[in-house]
Amino acid sequence: LFIAFEGGEGSGKTTQSRLLAIWLRDQGFDVVQTREPGSTKVGMRLRAILLDAAHQGLSARSEALLYAADRAEHVEKVIRPALGRGALVVCDRYVDSSLAYQGAGRELDPAHVARLNSWATGDLVPDLTVLIDVPPSIGLRRFASPADRIEAEPLEFHERVRREFRNLAAAAPERYLVVDGTLTQEEVSRLIQDRVRDILPD
Ligand code: C5P
Ligand code: MG
Repeated sequence: LFIAFEGGEGSGKTTQSRLLAIWLRDQGFDVVQTREPGSTKVGMRLRAILLDAAHQGLSARSEALLYAADRAEHVEKVIRPALGRGALVVCDRYVDSSLAYQGAGRELDPAHVARLNSWATGDLVPDLTVLIDVPPSIGLRRFASPADRIEAEPLEFHERVRREFRNLAAAAPERYLVVDGTLTQEEVSRLIQDRVRDILPD
């Protein structure tokens, strides 16, 4: 079972993916909790390149390719092996982040970003994607100052990202849970557990 978390900056997805992993482990499941970018040896290098403030102005295509490279490595080295041995995989960000940030955010052709990513992942699609939806004006205020190159983008960029995440969820509601990320941490995690309970293996 493969569960991905998506959302904009300050949505709380990192916290919620950790809470979900703990909840699943408590029930005795073998859980691999992972994130993008940066969960492999090469991926850690790619993450540093991608988020470095000195790389302002990196070409949008290069950015899309580097995220896709991180993801290809992640799928092949971490996610598929974990799924193969029957573990539950909880992943903080996946393909939708590229459709939202590089597609909508950077205004690359969404069909190209989608093809690049289906190639990079060998068409591995999550069983469930949890979208934690927060208006960027609220999410960005949860940080004192931007932590990386992308968080420093203007509000309109983050508004396009949010719209794309919501469109992706609306297009395949059976594969998504959209949670209002302005609720309390406890409320958000309860809504996620309620949905995940229904799809757990015995
Ligand atoms: O989730 P986290 O904040 O650790 O992600 C690191 C950064 O990478 C974020 O600022 C996020 O906006 C950015 N990102 C991106 N495109 C992706 C995935 C992440 O711009 N495909
Ligand atoms: Mg961030």
